[in-house]
Amino acid sequence: MDTTEKYIKMCESAKEIQKLWKPDIGDWFLSDFRGTTGFSEDLEKQMWGNDKEKWEKIQCLTHKPSIKDYVTISDSDGAHIYKMNEFFKHRHVWLPRQDQLQDMLKDTNTMGAIIQGLHWFYDPEHFCPDADDEYRACKCSSIGIERRKMLNSIEQFTLAFVMDELYDKKWDGSDWINKEN
Ligand SMILES: [Zn+2]
Repeated sequence: MDTTEKYIKMCESAKEIQKLWKPDIGDWFLSDFRGTTGFSEDLEKQMWGNDKEKWEKIQCLTHKPSIKDYVTISDSDGAHIYKMNEFFKHRHVWLPRQDQLQDMLKDTNTMGAIIQGLHWFYDPEHFCPDADDEYRACKCSSIGIERRKMLNSIEQFTLAFVMDELYDKKWDGSDWINKEN
């Protein structure tokens, strides 16, 4: 499971993915150490500063935190009752596992298409229809090289694949941007 700062940042920035989270047993997430919503505002400073504790707050949900979908949380200004989903989505960053990312595509794709698509996404020049043309002028090769340089784990690749498939966005190293066509 990728729990690197890079993957956390990619997940936190993927608002579309965060919205899909339905907290359940086995989910990985970043606890909101600062008690704010998300942590992107001064992320760069935190990433390169000495705030080590932040990155040790990665947790896995191993039990339902309350009965009836509600949970009580103590804050500096008192105890609050949250509906479980709202609590988690408001205060934590979900780090989807690879299988969860792939499941996001299963309504529109067969399992074979997902596996094939991921391979295609990883290695576009291999599947280029013009691969036999020695004069081909397509961008498949440079796109593949850029992706493999930018994305460093199977989770990062699968997240980028899902963002590409569902939202036409790509990771530029610091945020998800709309793909230029
Ligand atoms: Zn091509």
